[in-house]
Amino acid sequence: MEPVAPRKFGEKGLQSDKRDSDAGSLARLEARVRRDQEYLCRPSENWVLPHHHGGQRVLDAVIIGGGMCGQLAWFALTNGGMRNIRILDRSREGLEGPWMTYARMDTLRSPKQLTGPAYGYGALTFRAWYTAQFGDAAWEALDKIPRPMWMDYLKWYREVLAIPIENEVEAKRIVPEGDYLRLELVGPRATEAALITRKCIMATGREGTGHPHIPDFVGDLPRSHWAHTSEDIDFDSLEGKRVVVIGAGASAVENAAEAAEHGAREVRHLIRRREMPTINKMMGIGSFGFTAGFADLPDEWRWRFMQYSFATQTPAPRGSTLRASRHDNVHFHFGKSIASMQLCADEVLIDTVDGARLATDYVILATGFTTDPLARTELAGYADQIELWGDRYTPPASESNEALANFPYLNRDFTFRERTPGSAPWLKHIYCFNYGASASLGKVSGDIPGISEGASWLAREMAASLYREDVAAHFQGMIDYSKPELTGDEWTPSEIEPAAVAPFTEVGD
Ligand SMILES: Cc1cc2nc3c(=O)[nH]c(=O)nc-3n(C[C@H](O)[C@H](O)[C@H](O)COP(=O)(O)OP(=O)(O)OC[C@H]3O[C@@H](n4cnc5c(N)ncnc54)[C@H](O)[C@@H]3O)c2cc1C
Repeated sequence: MEPVAPRKFGEKGLQSDKRDSDAGSLARLEARVRRDQEYLCRPSENWVLPHHHGGQRVLDAVIIGGGMCGQLAWFALTNGGMRNIRILDRSREGLEGPWMTYARMDTLRSPKQLTGPAYGYGALTFRAWYTAQFGDAAWEALDKIPRPMWMDYLKWYREVLAIPIENEVEAKRIVPEGDYLRLELVGPRATEAALITRKCIMATGREGTGHPHIPDFVGDLPRSHWAHTSEDIDFDSLEGKRVVVIGAGASAVENAAEAAEHGAREVRHLIRRREMPTINKMMGIGSFGFTAGFADLPDEWRWRFMQYSFATQTPAPRGSTLRASRHDNVHFHFGKSIASMQLCADEVLIDTVDGARLATDYVILATGFTTDPLARTELAGYADQIELWGDRYTPPASESNEALANFPYLNRDFTFRERTPGSAPWLKHIYCFNYGASASLGKVSGDIPGISEGASWLAREMAASLYREDVAAHFQGMIDYSKPELTGDEWTPSEIEPAAVAPFTEVGD
């Protein structure tokens, strides 16, 4: 996908473009990061035992995805002494994740002070990076993080930690190869056809265990007349046109605003719900307790939290909604379930379930993503062996939810489980470190707030698994270890002379 032209910094309050020269510098901050690493004795020395296959050293892990989660996973693993790893991303450098492609909001939803991928390092926070360049006063004045600036921060994060992302390399398929996994690679910069690895982390993003959701009502409407928000949309071509946006979430209002700002004649949101969702329930209950406790809750409780969050829906951010409704020609129509869409003389005719009919020139589907492991080409051939929530848990009728039933039911270490024991044992080496993990493990593998907790958890679980698998060799290492700590000249043995022994006296009761 081609990058969406970012608005220029300084425009529309996207960034304070006046850097504060007294505020210190990135160079000093980078030195601080390096010093913190040194003080904390990180990254740890490699402790993972080498494995070989076909005469070649096997990688300990490959991380698919060089977005925020992939980068942080790399940092957490290397800090933990798992150093024989690689990280791939199919995007061009600087275009990882949604930020510079299809994310169209001015600012992030997340509050600016969240520590995101900082992994416990103050010097790695967005705040440290920002104040090093613009100063404390600018930080105080900053409301939300401008979207392109967040990408700049992630680029800096990659640079300061020297994360060796291999861009323009796509992991096409993950297949078993004996006790290992073979990752088949494609892409302009792929230098090998395949990699052999012990573990694979799918840090593949918001649609990382699924795909954009295209509702059935789209039918065979020609591609020239619709797009999903995750696609490259030529907004210039919408000038003077009528546009319908399906949905009312964050992407809906941002795409509606974008269309209006590019001169669309009218933009109409068609919204199935009768009322606008206004309360962000998941954000409201975010806490260390939720992060730490969710994965251990019984199925019925995990389902209940997730189902309620789905049912109440995350509202669009206030700023994005205002950005859309600032335009007089942006309209919100509630209670409009779509029955059908058809092309008629270059117009799209939309019929709603309640009998309304609307003509438009272009439809933007802000219908989000579907979690559906079966749709992932990386898992092609055995994705149907992955255990899903629907296989494990039947909720009461009042809490049924088809979308949630499609989420993978993960082990506590982020790995997939087999639907039928013995049918695909290699699944326990594939780690689902993306949105797909949320039904099983909570919000620790996607959004900014819980991501450092998630990465630390992932690294710990992976270390445990790599160690456990080689336990006999590690034990042998203990037996073989022969480097003395004492060399024998630190003490002199002496005999106990009888006279030196004090007579035994009883100490009172
Ligand atoms: C429009 C939009 C706005 C958002 N705003 C916010 C926000 O304000 N706050 C927040 O906390 N979250 C937000 N999110 C959620 C957001 O996706 C995450 O916070 C963040 O991008 C997660 O990072 P990630 O690394 O998991 O995924 P991504 O950043 O999406 O990175 C995944 C990477 O995997 C790569 N990849 C996928 N498959 C392969 C493959 N087979 N081979 C090689 N590479 C592959 C992709 O190229 C991509 O670069 C937003 C999401 C969207 C879509």
